[in-house]
Amino acid sequence: MKIAFLGLGIMGRPMAANLVKAGHEVAVWNRTARQHLDGARTAVSPAEAAVDADVVWTCVADTAAVERVLFSEDGVERSLREGMLVVDSSTISPSATLRFAERVNARGVHWVDAPVTGSKIGAETAQLIFIVGGAPEPVEYLQPLFKAMGKLVIHIGDVGKGQSAKLCMNLMIALIYEGFAEAFTLGQKLGVDAHKFIELVQASMVRSGVVEYKAPFVLRHDFSPNFPLRLMHKDIHLMLDTAKENRVKLPALETVDEIYELSTEEGWENLDFAATLALLQKWAGLGGQPK
Ligand code: NAP
Repeated sequence: MKIAFLGLGIMGRPMAANLVKAGHEVAVWNRTARQHLDGARTAVSPAEAAVDADVVWTCVADTAAVERVLFSEDGVERSLREGMLVVDSSTISPSATLRFAERVNARGVHWVDAPVTGSKIGAETAQLIFIVGGAPEPVEYLQPLFKAMGKLVIHIGDVGKGQSAKLCMNLMIALIYEGFAEAFTLGQKLGVDAHKFIELVQASMVRSGVVEYKAPFVLRHDFSPNFPLRLMHKDIHLMLDTAKENRVKLPALETVDEIYELSTEEGWENLDFAATLALLQKWAGLGGQPK
C-alpha cells in the first residue's frame, strides 16, 4: 500500500519504520528535524506526502498539530481524493476528531481514529495496541498496516470512540502511576527497600502493567522520555476538558493535574511523566534532581 506517514517523533518514527519493513511504499514528512527515514521517500509538505497515497497516517503531538498537518495551506486536504483513508494515531480531542472527520468525509475520504498504547518500546517492537474508532470496512482494510506496527486492534466503535477510550485509559495510567509514586515515596521515607517493595507490588493484587514498564526506569532514577510528561499533561487537559464538555467530575485527576503543573514549573516537561515521582521525593526531603 502507499502510505503517507506524518510525524516522526518518539512513536511515529518506529511506526513508519515498521511499515517500511513490512514492504509498504512510505512517504514521510516531519515538521522540523529528523526528516529522513531509511527506505522511505522524504516529502516536502504533508500535501506532497499525501499526493498519491492510499492512506494518510498521522502521529503528531496534539489536536492543533493534527489540524495543522491536515488543514493548513500545505496540508493533506489539498491532496485528498475520493476513497482515501486518513488514520490518526495521535492522542487528541474526541470532539475535534468528529469535526476533522466530517471535513474529510465531505471529500469522500474515510476517517479512522487509531490512538495507540504501548509507548516507545511497543512502537519499536511492533507490539502496539491500536484503540480504534471508525466504520467496519476501512478498519478491515487497514488490518495489514495495524499488523505491521502492533499486536492487537481493539475496534471500540464509530469515529471518535477510539480517542474517547484512549483518554479514559490514559486517565487510569496517570492515576495508577501517581498512586505508585506516592506509595514508593512513603516507603522510601520509612526505609523500605525499593526492589523488595516492587517485588511485593507485582506479586500482589495491586500488580500493574504501569509499574512493570516504569519500575526499571524508576530504580535507575532514569527519567529520559518514553512518554514525555508534557504529552501526559496534554492528555490530562484533554480528559478534564472532555469531562467538562460532558458534565463529568474527575476530582482525583484534578489533583494529579496540579502535580503535573508543578513538575512543569520545575522544567521537567520533556522528561518522562515518571519524573512526577521526583517532586514527591523532593517534598519528602529525599532529594535528587531527575535526569
Ligand atoms: P513526540 O516525540 O513529541 O513527537 C511529536 C511529533 O509531532 C513530532 O513529529 C513533532 O514534530 C510533531 N509536531 C508537534 N507539533 C506539531 C505541529 N504544530 N505541526 C506539525 N507537527 C507537529 O511525541 P510522541 O511520543 O511521538 O507522541 C505522538 C502522539 O502519540 C501524541 O499525541 C502522544 O500523546 C501519543 N502517544 C505517545 C505515546 C508515548 O509513549 N510516547 C504513547 C501513546 C500515544 P517535530 O519533530 O518537528 O517537533
